[in-house]
Parts: sequence; C-alpha cells; structure tokens
Amino acid sequence: MAADVRITFLGGLGDIGRNCAVLETDDRLVLLDCGQLFPDEMSPGADSIYPDFSYLDGRWHQVEAAIVTHAHEDHIGALAHALGEASFPVYGSAFTLGLVRHRLDEGDVLSNTDLRLVTDGETLQVGPFSVEFLPVTHSVPSGLISAITTPQGVVLHSSDFKLDPTPLDGRLTDLPRIAEIAADPGIRLLLCDSTNANSPGATRSETEIGPVLDNVFADNVGRRIITACFASHIHRVIQIVDAALAHDRKVATLGLSMKRNVALARQLGMLTIPEDSIVDIEEVASFADGDVCIVSTGSQAENRSALAMAAGGDSRWVDITANDTVVLSSTPIPGNEAAIARMINNLIERGARVLHSGVLGLHTSGHGNRDELATLHKTARPEWFVPVHGEHQHLVAHIELAQSLGMAAERALLARDGDQVVLADDGLSIEADVVDGLYLYRHGAVVSPNDDPLRDRRILGQEGFVGVVVTVDVEAGEMVGEPLLVARGWMPPDTELELEPELIDDVARAVVGALDDGVTGLDELHRRVRRATGQYVSRATRRRPMIVPVVVSI
Ligand SMILES: [Zn+2]
Ligand SMILES: [Zn+2]
Repeated sequence: MAADVRITFLGGLGDIGRNCAVLETDDRLVLLDCGQLFPDEMSPGADSIYPDFSYLDGRWHQVEAAIVTHAHEDHIGALAHALGEASFPVYGSAFTLGLVRHRLDEGDVLSNTDLRLVTDGETLQVGPFSVEFLPVTHSVPSGLISAITTPQGVVLHSSDFKLDPTPLDGRLTDLPRIAEIAADPGIRLLLCDSTNANSPGATRSETEIGPVLDNVFADNVGRRIITACFASHIHRVIQIVDAALAHDRKVATLGLSMKRNVALARQLGMLTIPEDSIVDIEEVASFADGDVCIVSTGSQAENRSALAMAAGGDSRWVDITANDTVVLSSTPIPGNEAAIARMINNLIERGARVLHSGVLGLHTSGHGNRDELATLHKTARPEWFVPVHGEHQHLVAHIELAQSLGMAAERALLARDGDQVVLADDGLSIEADVVDGLYLYRHGAVVSPNDDPLRDRRILGQEGFVGVVVTVDVEAGEMVGEPLLVARGWMPPDTELELEPELIDDVARAVVGALDDGVTGLDELHRRVRRATGQYVSRATRRRPMIVPVVVSI
C-alpha cells in the first residue's frame, strides 16, 4: 500500500484569488502557489486578503518548499506572509522569481529565503515529490505546469493557462510531454484552471494583438499615445514597445511596477529597447506629442494607479490633453467595471481619445476557453479530476465540461476552499471543511482572521455612526447633566442639529427610567441607551447607522 497524498485547498476554489494548496504525504508538506485576493467593496479598508493558514498551525516546520507557478499576485502575493511563519525554499522560473524577490524584499523575508531557479522541462526533487516543470502559455511569461510524482502517481497541476498556438516568445505549452506522461506512467489526478470554463471556443493568440496596436499608432500620428496594461504582462508590453519603435516614438514608463517590470524584462533579455529610445517620464514633456509613447499601469483603474491619477488630474507627470490617445490594452476584471468607466469618462472630459477592448481587439485573455480546456483534458486523460482556480460557477461548468468529454461523474470532484482531497490506493475522496477559517485580512501592519472591522466599515461607509455619551452617578441613582450626541455621516449637520433635542430627551428618559427601576449595572445601562437611540434614529430617519452608546459612571 502506498502512502496517501493529501491536497488541502486554502484558497482559489470559490474566488479568483489567493490561490494556495498544501500537498502532503507522510507529514512532509509543499505549498503549491501562495497568492493574495484583491479586496473589493465588501472588504473596505483591507490592503490585502490572504489564505487562512491556520491549517499549518503547529506544522510550519513540516513545510519543505513552495512552488510558484507564475508571477501573478493571486499566486505569489501571500508568500512573504507565509515566509514570515517559517523559512522554506521557493521554486519558480527566472521571471517569476524576479518578481517574487521584490515582494519578499518588501516583506523583509528575502535574506533568509532560498530561491531555487527552475528551467523549462527540468525535473527537481521538491520536498517529498519529484516534480517535472513544463512550459505553459499565459498572460505573464514563463508560467509552469507541474507534473508532480507522488506515492499515489502523477498529479498534474495546469497552472493558469491558455493554449496559445503562436505565443510571442515561441515558448509553446508542452502538450507532447503531457501526452507522454499520460501514456506512461499515466496521470492520476488533474488539477486544472477553470477561469474561462463558461466561455465557448478558444481565446485569440497574444500575437494577434500586435497588429491591432500597430494600427492604433498608424491612426494617431502627431498625437501623444498613452497605453495601459498589466505591468506583469510583458508580452503585451513588448508588443506596445515594438509598435512605438516602429513608428519612431520614444518610450517612457509610468507607474512604479511598470518601471520595475520593464527593467526586469530587459535584464532577463525578454525585452529589447535601444538605450536612446527609452526616456524618463520626467523628460516626456521635452518631446513633441507625436514622438512619444507612455506605457502605464492602471488599466483596471486601481485606486492611486498611474492612469487613474492622470485621469483625475492628480498626476505629477502627465497632464491629459485633447492631443492624447489613451489605449487600454485590457478587459475589466469583474468588479472593476464602474471604476474603469469613471476613469474613461474622466479622460474623455479632459479631451482625450480613449480606445479600449470594447471598441477594438486590444486584448485577449490569459485563460483558455472551453476548447482549450478540452484539449488539455483529452491530452492528460486523467483518472481523477478536480477543477481549481475559479468562482463556484466556473468550477461547476468545468466539471460539466469534463463529463461531456466522457469522464465518469464520480471521477470529477467538486472541492471548495477549506476542503481536502485524499488520493489513496482506492481512489480520490473529499474531506470537507478541514480548514476552519478562509481569509486573513491585512490592515496596514496588522494581519488578522477577524472580519469584524470590515463589517463595521461597511456600516460606517453606508450609514455613518450615532454616539450618545451619558454620565451617571450610580450610587445616587442619578443622571449627571444631559446626554451628549456625537454623530458622523448620519444626516446632514443641520438635520442632526434639529433632531438632537428629541433624541437627547428620549435617551434621558430611558436612563432616568432605568435608574428609577434600580438598574445599577453599566452593561444594562448601555443596552438601554443603545435601544432608546436606535429606536429614535430608526423612527425619525429610517436609517440604521452604527449606534455607539457610552455610559460613564462617576
Ligand atoms: Zn491566477
Ligand atoms: Zn495568472
């Protein structure tokens, strides 16, 4: 009997983000990706959201390594936090480790972390597993499929992928090698990206974007061109730069991460820009508009990102004018649509011409559509299948797709965040809810599993707060002075002033009534003040602000 292999999903199966799985056998653990989830309107004020690592409490010393499949934040963004708990080597490609190095430096864990470079096609011993790393195409360079040999056979992890037949760097997904492994020794379990499991057909190749960009430059002679895309999407940046150089423009980067990633890509030989063609953003003003191209971050209109700042008139470097053409080489990530629409409106109000993927074919997804997923399934021919990397709807669609390709229903298992799948001699099974918590929230320097602050911030953001301060002399059974109202964001100040006397009267009556009833406990007085305040606020304004009662005893 071979030892069981357990895979525990700490994130990525329910949200797109915070991808992290723990692979283990015989109490020897390997992390497969370690990413963050970007906060949305449901988590106001959180800086990042990490997987909840409580599954590893008391077991961090058993973590022997982490594999990072590619350089996206939803795969590397929580690594620094995990490495604050324990030190272990991190395996990844040169480009991935280039970005990881920077994130670990920011997190103050770089000096005691061993970064181990992986090259395409290499097989390495990672903790208890022998792992063969295969090239895969995606919207960041140098992604890696992991074929993990375990005591229970090969587990194939697709990483985020599309099957681009003509990738910009010519680095094709190694389907032939996957077919070989499928033939011998066979693939026991496939863990596969589900992001586009609802999208029919196949995605366009990345190299189809270059000609579209080139046309934009041809159509905008004499105008300044400002482009925005993900800073990690080096193949897009290369195509923008190539179009700019072909049209005799100088290139400047805008936004810290763009500057850093372009420098890394140049250093790794992925991106070639002649020295006299790259200029500092400070120098852009000294060139004619038609002679420059600015390559910027902020395609998702992220708060304080370079392009969003420029659109709002808050950029130190770029004043948007009627002679600007702004090119968004991206599509909105779900949840960002409203912010992007606001940014586009701001840009157009300043006179700019704005081109985006809604009007031109300026973007293609990095995640394969159904035809591409089907190709991987047919090539890998796994014995068992668990969809990963998706919201619940994507995971379910991916299971249905696998079944439509002939996989028996009982061999495609739907797991969720916090579940553990167990691969044993007699097959794959799920142990549900092995992990209690799901999310860790970082607020500034503090990381906590508790989401109370987010709930409070949502109420404060929507409704404001109403505080009432009451002073009592419990011994004498008397209220001292009048209750005091402190409110923020509840009503317009004039209305608050108008309502204040009635509210104070109601609260005073409740407190005096309680003291007359012989109530002496401060907790009970708090409750009475809260109830009187809440009832008045609800009756008078039909709102539900946060009620903050304060009872002081002298
Ligand atoms: Zn991802
Ligand atoms: Zn990705």
